[in-house]
Amino acid sequence: MVVRRAIHALADRPRVTRWISDKGMRSGFARRFIAGETLEEALAAIIELRNKGMDVTVDYLGEVVRDAEATRAVTDTYCSILDRISDPDIGASISLKPTHLGLSISRELAQENIGRIVAHAKELDNFVRIDMEDSSTTEATLEIFKTLRPQYDNLGTVVQSYLYRTEEDVHKLNALGAKLRLCKGAYKEPAQVAFQDKSEVDRNYVKVAELLLREGTYPAFATHDHRVIEHIKSMARKRGIDKDAFEFQMLYGIRRDVQLQILEDGYRMRIYVPFGQQWLPYFMRRIAERPANAWFVVRAMLGN
Ligand SMILES: Cc1cc2nc3c(=O)[nH]c(=O)nc-3n(C[C@H](O)[C@H](O)[C@H](O)COP(=O)(O)OP(=O)(O)OC[C@H]3O[C@@H](n4cnc5c(N)ncnc54)[C@H](O)[C@@H]3O)c2cc1C
Repeated sequence: MVVRRAIHALADRPRVTRWISDKGMRSGFARRFIAGETLEEALAAIIELRNKGMDVTVDYLGEVVRDAEATRAVTDTYCSILDRISDPDIGASISLKPTHLGLSISRELAQENIGRIVAHAKELDNFVRIDMEDSSTTEATLEIFKTLRPQYDNLGTVVQSYLYRTEEDVHKLNALGAKLRLCKGAYKEPAQVAFQDKSEVDRNYVKVAELLLREGTYPAFATHDHRVIEHIKSMARKRGIDKDAFEFQMLYGIRRDVQLQILEDGYRMRIYVPFGQQWLPYFMRRIAERPANAWFVVRAMLGN
């Protein structure tokens, strides 16, 4: 946790972030987690994953956009991404961030933009997942989801096991038939709202996963945690839940060995493929999650 906080602090230092965003793609170290800066690069990564039998969700990277016109342009871009990836030869869904689409300006704007994307996805018979960002956005994100969901069954969202509120949220969302992705949570959160101890976050993940397997609608378990994955498989087996009734999800470039193993074991495996020029905050969260990752950045800094 201390190292994680230190990395989050570094992520706020303009000199460090300028260096990383300058060198990350050119020297290649950012490509470990980011499929590329263009849709063409992302499509190549998607096709490779699809050929292996994986499902894919695409994230056009960006967050905290404070210009309303810019959020409308992001909305247009998402619609054209949907046009490309809904092609049956590609067959990927999308994930999006509310602050990329106006939530930093107003809830109404984010809802209007997300609504436009979900409506377009529905025409194309595709699915949209609203990612969950930091806890200052949780309530508004769930409100947007609950408002749009009655019109659009092709919409899902995300809950984070580090938040105290999540268990109660999941009870309510299950009652609405919400399709939820469960993750641990990637943001720096205070003790007032979130468990600080990793073992408590992990314990709550398993507890909420049980709840989703019992009462949820096609839940998605987003984690690379081998022990948690085994626990979920065993819970599902004991309850006689079909392997197709839920899916596992992992991030592009992380634990490729486990991704393939899950697929070989007959479960559905969806890979989250991020692309775009605004990759830095996403990249820094991946470094903070696993401080050992900082070494390949340091090695690149030292010119090795
Ligand atoms: C598909 C998907 C979607 C997500 N969406 C969201 C979201 O909407 N909102 C949100 O807050 N968070 C999201 N996350 C991130 C999530 O909250 C965690 O921060 C992240 O997945 C790491 O937690 P873990 O469950 O893998 O467990 P951990 O206990 O952190 O890690 C377990 C093991 O996974 C491997 N691992 C984990 N992270 C890394 C890494 N960065 N680099 C290399 N190896 C790693 C390591 O082997 C580690 O031992 C998402 C994650 C996934 C997989």
